Amino acid sequence: MSYKLNQKIEDLTPYSPISGEFQIRLDANESTYKINDEILSLILEKISTTEINRYPDPFALKLCKSFASYYLIDEKLVTAGNGSDELIGLIIGSFLCAGEKMLTFSHDFSMYKFYGELFGMKNIVYQKDEDLNVDIDEVIKLSNKEKVSLIIFSNPCNPTSLGIKKADIIKLLTSSNSLVVLDEAYMDFFDQSLIGEVSNFENLIILRTSSKAIGLAGARLGFAVSNLRLTKVLKAVKSPYNVNAISQGIGEVVFAQKDYLDAQITKIIKNRSALIDGLSDLKSRYNWCDKIFLSKTNFAFIKTSYAQQIFSELAKMQIAVRNMGEYLRISTGTELENTVLLTKLETIVSEIHKN
Ligand SMILES: *Cc1c(COP(=O)(O)O)cnc(C)c1O
Repeated sequence: MSYKLNQKIEDLTPYSPISGEFQIRLDANESTYKINDEILSLILEKISTTEINRYPDPFALKLCKSFASYYLIDEKLVTAGNGSDELIGLIIGSFLCAGEKMLTFSHDFSMYKFYGELFGMKNIVYQKDEDLNVDIDEVIKLSNKEKVSLIIFSNPCNPTSLGIKKADIIKLLTSSNSLVVLDEAYMDFFDQSLIGEVSNFENLIILRTSSKAIGLAGARLGFAVSNLRLTKVLKAVKSPYNVNAISQGIGEVVFAQKDYLDAQITKIIKNRSALIDGLSDLKSRYNWCDKIFLSKTNFAFIKTSYAQQIFSELAKMQIAVRNMGEYLRISTGTELENTVLLTKLETIVSEIHKN
């Protein structure tokens, strides 16, 4: 018996989000709202007519059409994925050859680096400044100096919650020969999308997800939007039946609910603003954090040396948030969930303040 795992996978452990029972889940940036009953019944109707003995549409055409009409773009530029996570892995694994260089930012979404390493790429890291802002000229300089083949980052950013202006992204696109993968997972909460302009760029793939604003994290629906040439490649390299028939139907129904989705997004942004206001109020009264970032997303990002302590205390009170070393990331909940969080947080930080 001498089967050996290769070095790059032998020490990997499965991704496991926080475990345990929590009354309030504010750790994963999902939508906290269940889909409403009216739309749920449309979904159930759709499922009842889905022939699950047959393979799904490999190109998820109806789903892509519904997605495209919500965002007012051309459906021919859309590729559907089993969550945008699948598309991230697919793009890194197929648009690059092993050993090529890719550029990621720090801090940013951890899956970019994970897939890069898994597929044997050389990961170059652009370090954001102390306030976690991105200097696009520095990014351009680094990418040209290192001759990277791919640049991948999120805008707005998970975890920093900050947004980059569209003009800066365009500058990057036109000053670099790399493929730029622009992960717009949170762009429903910000107004600097390039989703309508992909045909103007040779080297741009935009990623979107229905796991955050759209409220379908459990259905696993992600999308790539890119020019025709790149879209053709994406559709050629993906596995044929990557999005199951049930999820295709769910997405087709939900993206057709423009008024509902617009109202949800408005509500989530309002809750997020109230959450940030509440946190800022606590910051003005107790000495528990250094900075609350200016969020363009559905979550708050907080710099505090008490992150671990606050995380553990909140967990004891059945509230899950994300602990990231010297930062906390807290997704917005409903108005009520935010109020409960802020009340419990005040109990915790008033103790910290006393010390
Ligand atoms: C949540 C998230 C994703 C993952 O989206 P899925 O479609 O659920 O796989 C991708 N990118 C960023 C930046 C995210 O925060």
